[in-house]
Amino acid sequence: MTIFLYDTYTRSLREFEPIEPGEVGMYTCGPTVYDYAHIGNLRTYIFEDILRRTLELDGLRVRHVMNITDVGHLVSDADTGEDRMEKGSRRTGMSAWQIAELYTNEFVADLRRLNILEPTVWCKATDHIQEQIDFIACIEARGFTYRTPDGIYFDTSKMNDYGYLARLDVEGLQAGVRIEMGEKRHPTDFALWKFSPPDSKRQMEWDSPWGVGFPGWHIECSAMSAKYLGPFFDIHCGGEDHIGVHHSNEIAQTEACYGTRLANFWMHGYFLQIDEARMGKSAGNFLRVQTLMERGYDPLAWRYFCLNANYRTKLNFSWEGVDGAATSLDRLRTAVYEWGEPGIASDEYVEKFREAVNDDLNMPRALAVTWELVKSDQEPAVKKATILVFDRVLGLRLGEWQPPEEVIPAEIMEIVEQRQLARKEKRWQDADSLRNLVTESGFEIEDTPKGPRVKRKKQIIPQ
Ligand code: AMP
Ligand code: ZN
Repeated sequence: MTIFLYDTYTRSLREFEPIEPGEVGMYTCGPTVYDYAHIGNLRTYIFEDILRRTLELDGLRVRHVMNITDVGHLVSDADTGEDRMEKGSRRTGMSAWQIAELYTNEFVADLRRLNILEPTVWCKATDHIQEQIDFIACIEARGFTYRTPDGIYFDTSKMNDYGYLARLDVEGLQAGVRIEMGEKRHPTDFALWKFSPPDSKRQMEWDSPWGVGFPGWHIECSAMSAKYLGPFFDIHCGGEDHIGVHHSNEIAQTEACYGTRLANFWMHGYFLQIDEARMGKSAGNFLRVQTLMERGYDPLAWRYFCLNANYRTKLNFSWEGVDGAATSLDRLRTAVYEWGEPGIASDEYVEKFREAVNDDLNMPRALAVTWELVKSDQEPAVKKATILVFDRVLGLRLGEWQPPEEVIPAEIMEIVEQRQLARKEKRWQDADSLRNLVTESGFEIEDTPKGPRVKRKKQIIPQ
């Protein structure tokens, strides 16, 4: 079946064909580990996970590479200000290396909570300093760099189509020069290597042919993607904010060194917003998966929430929305559980589902097909087998879910036993009043052939 994906580079929906038949190389920009990931960041990782799972459902083998930015990402994307890691270190009182480890572990834990598949290769910027130095040397040898008192910069004026991905108006920017320039020659130039400040010692710094310092933020992705996927591979993804600076610069670096376009497809996830503004780590409006869990939500309710919208639209956060997603997920899981053992999947429904996901990951449509299946008159065993196929993309752990075991207080169980005794002795009035006692305490008794089953009554919680 054909897969269509929206490619930001050409601004069009294109049929996806892997460069190597059957294999897909996919690179996703990973987190800057100076703080926890927020649910907006995680919306982007969920989109990328859906992409990978869709390709895998089509029988493709995906080699998925994700970096961890643990050095070089400055407070401003325009290469000014402090390194985010060093700033995080001051904020927490831990070393830059310690916070990198702490927030990397927290990030991996978040991925697991959201059932996001781990990449085939994890790569840390600080483990690839030599590769980055070699890459900068390559760009330098091709004549695209210059030196300033604070670092080695990429000269974007030497590249004909610099900024094409973002359709940047380079000349307009040049004329306006609103950007903090420092010693840069052009507003779009960016740092490849920054020198350590002469008056202070950085926690993270290395020797290089140009002087002691650290790599710029963009070079790690060009260097590590080339190492693990080659200089031209299938799909590169990230959040929409990367189009204008980070990905434009990655493309420039790789084109300068290898003369290739870096990736065949460029895909971007759109922002999660809160009160119509971007959710950001520095904006102080950020919610974590942990925050949702503290409010009693299953993390997968967040995944379900994200699946309700297309990845190419901005999505507004609301607690009502999360609540709705949690309820839908609960209903879906309960239905799937009650279907029992799987039989043989319905080709017709699998086909419909694949059509939806292969149409540029149309998850709202894929969810509609899912609910259509739930409500259909297919046999439960067929439904079960079919939904397990869907769940290879949905990733909602539908096959594993079991209703939680309820803990019924001992006093209630005591009354239930007394009622059983009364029934045995045909003291019907006693039995009835004992049942009423249980009901009044917020529980209900269901008499089954195996004996009474006691459940907590569902409560409508006022908003
Ligand atoms: P960072 O850790 O800041 O480098 O961001 C990690 C990923 O999350 C990147 O792909 C960003 O583009 C993406 N991202 C940042 N903010 C948001 C947001 N509010 N909604 C969706 N994705 C975001
Ligand atoms: Zn990147």
